[in-house]
Amino acid sequence: MTCSAKGCQAAARWQLLWNNPKIHAPERRKTWLACEEHRGSLSDFLGARGFLRGTEPVEDD
Ligand SMILES: [Zn+2]
Repeated sequence: MTCSAKGCQAAARWQLLWNNPKIHAPERRKTWLACEEHRGSLSDFLGARGFLRGTEPVEDD
């Protein structure tokens, strides 16, 4: 799995779980994948909008 950041080809290390209460049911979770480099910027983007619900590590396999 690769990072969800635009143009990034790095392996994802984190799953950012988010929900936009205006368009999603409360229990729904969307997932963005993030590499180490983009975890911060993607988290900040979601957090600034009040969408971020959690962050979980991606299991290596
Ligand atoms: Zn990335």
